[in-house]
Amino acid sequence: MKITDIRFTVIGESPVVRVLTDEGIDGFGAAERAKPYLRTHVLELLPALLGEDPTNVERCMTRIRHRGGFKPWGSAVSAVEIALWDIAGKAAGIPVYKLLGGKVRDRVRVYNGAVRKEMTSFTPEDYARDTRAQMASPEGFTIIKQGIAFHSQMKSSVPDFTLADQRTSPLPGYLTRGPLTEKGMKLLVECVAAMKDVLGDDVGLALDCGPGWTVPDAIRFARSVEEYNILWLEDLVAGDYTPSPAAHLFREITRATSTPIHTGEQIYLRQNFRELIETRAVSVVGPDPCDVGGIAELKWIAEYADLHGILMAPHGTGNGIVGLAALVHVCATLPDNYVAFEYTTGRPEWWYDIVSGLPDPIVRDGFIDVWDGPGLGIAFDVERSRQYLPEQDRYFFD
Ligand SMILES: [Mg+2]
Repeated sequence: MKITDIRFTVIGESPVVRVLTDEGIDGFGAAERAKPYLRTHVLELLPALLGEDPTNVERCMTRIRHRGGFKPWGSAVSAVEIALWDIAGKAAGIPVYKLLGGKVRDRVRVYNGAVRKEMTSFTPEDYARDTRAQMASPEGFTIIKQGIAFHSQMKSSVPDFTLADQRTSPLPGYLTRGPLTEKGMKLLVECVAAMKDVLGDDVGLALDCGPGWTVPDAIRFARSVEEYNILWLEDLVAGDYTPSPAAHLFREITRATSTPIHTGEQIYLRQNFRELIETRAVSVVGPDPCDVGGIAELKWIAEYADLHGILMAPHGTGNGIVGLAALVHVCATLPDNYVAFEYTTGRPEWWYDIVSGLPDPIVRDGFIDVWDGPGLGIAFDVERSRQYLPEQDRYFFD
């Protein structure tokens, strides 16, 4: 089998990559929401892959892996990797999870990242209300994640929250960085207490915190919430779009507290997790398969983290339905350091009308049953999908 073409489009909010072959088998990959600018980056990979056998996934990757970087520049390569596994699975007539070593679990736990309303005010009561709404969601999530501090508008909408200069940019990323005020720190701890009051010990709480913290503030906060058994504090000093892992800073924080520290969603490739893992700089890593270099890359990192007593909770909130399929397949195969991956939804809602193969409901009691179709096990209804293609991509499914 030979690769004959690579196509790119944005369907609704989701960038989608399609790899075509001379045997009529195609594969799909995904990137995180928006990112129309990935088009050129994806299409320029074609000359490196034209004529290659897509079922030799790793051999193909050796020809394009050098074209990736930290988020968002790893997503084109990652989307192609996922599409290659989809083809390899379809060609063999087996689900992708079998190609990755077989499933360790029949259902995968997810945590809530995507089913939420944007918060506009940030009192303990606001957090309690929002937490209650997430708990009531029909998915029955067993873990929810909340954005606080620099990973929210708290930093700009709560007066005197931080001593930092407010930095903004039309490009996504959390740019404000600096010390919290004493008032800001107290408010955060009160918000955590209010959320835990709602959650009790039924549903776990993770907090997406930054980046932007100073190391001393991060240590103070992590110690202040030790009594609440938070599952993890995410991206305190680096993360999201920070183009470096900051392992040395995370290590100082992790050494100073029993609260688990988490990072990794922006990191590209296993090499850039090496120091974080080998120095045990964090307790949980959270690469995103659509940014790290793909699903086999994520699996390798999970195995290496497990060897060092580090947990794995993959990122994924913006990856859409194709990204969801990739997450389900790879997470089914991870070792016992797997905690949960960040649930992602189809946007807009009509995504659920154009894709078949998903369980209904998708999430039950906070878990997704691993499905068994060949490849990623999902398929586009081409006739229904076509109407949503941008004019320039109307040939996408041809
Ligand atoms: Mg995050």
